[in-house]
Amino acid sequence: MKPVIIFITSILLVTHCATNHEIKPFEQTRIMMDTFVQISIYDQDKTIEELSSVIELAFKQIQNIERITNDYDDSSFISLINREAGERAIALDSVMYHLIVTSNNYNKISDGAFDITIGSVKQLWSFAQENPRIPGDVLIRQQLENVGHQNLLLENETIKFKLPGVRLDLGAIAKGYAVDAAIQVLRDHRISDAMVNAGGNLRAICSDLTTGKRRVWIKNPRKSDTFSGYFRMDEGSVATSGDYERFFVFDSVRYHHILDPKTGEPARNCVSVTIQAASATEADGLSTAVFVLGPERGMELVNRLPGVEAIIIFEQDGKLVWKASAELKKKFKKIT
Ligand code: AMP
Ligand code: MG
Repeated sequence: MKPVIIFITSILLVTHCATNHEIKPFEQTRIMMDTFVQISIYDQDKTIEELSSVIELAFKQIQNIERITNDYDDSSFISLINREAGERAIALDSVMYHLIVTSNNYNKISDGAFDITIGSVKQLWSFAQENPRIPGDVLIRQQLENVGHQNLLLENETIKFKLPGVRLDLGAIAKGYAVDAAIQVLRDHRISDAMVNAGGNLRAICSDLTTGKRRVWIKNPRKSDTFSGYFRMDEGSVATSGDYERFFVFDSVRYHHILDPKTGEPARNCVSVTIQAASATEADGLSTAVFVLGPERGMELVNRLPGVEAIIIFEQDGKLVWKASAELKKKFKKIT
């Protein structure tokens, strides 16, 4: 039997296929969280009705998290926090509390490279609009005052901003969290072999059915529709952060959506960072953190964290080069 193939890409279709015989997953793809979310279930002992109902519940769970974390939706909980936490302490629900506490930890271990208070600066860049603009230095400097976890007051599961201009942005971690939550729903319903992939943030759980047959492909960051290579993975999570996911080019310079909280400008040291970790939340958070830290400091962080592996692609003398942590170096099959 051929391997299960998983394409990692954040914007376009994420595909994986089993063989043309035996294991056909029951799967659905929906547009959620501003990307394609695909849920694939390989278990063979359930009826179509059972599978339809459990997949529906898993998508519902992702939708719940999107409703809480989507800062483009004025009625979301994060938008309420962003509007009002400058004036009063807001009681957090369990999802938001968990996301903020986890983000605080990534902020600490990455020495500030990962920072969900990047929101006020990200608003200046307008990557989601058709005509994105380069904000002036003065504006960026003004908004940088609102960036930093020291501006957050977390007390008794409430949050208050110390400055009225602080804005939270959970774009670097919410998809991973939603993937973990969807996998939990599947597990709660006795699914043992499945994959959830939210725009390149994926998590797989595995039984004997697919052991040894799942491959994770990493996109070539400069040639769409081609791949840099692949590695095998049975259980675990993978996320990729790349400068090719949301970007525009102006005067031959690429401006992309992963911002260095120290400068308010796109982080320049990496082209793509793939993290393998136990949970999708961890993979998502760390891929952004390592991207900002760059190949040297980023790999140092990865090497300090048990169970975390990375492949970092970056530019050197005008060429793309890559480096991988010890375990992934052994497994990664480079193809371009
Ligand atoms: P990802 O694709 O997971 O790396 O997440 C990128 C998204 O995270 C961006 O579109 C922003 O919404 C947000 N973001 C940008 N820079 C940072 C940063 N330094 N720390 C945390 N979140 C960030
Ligand atoms: Mg991320």
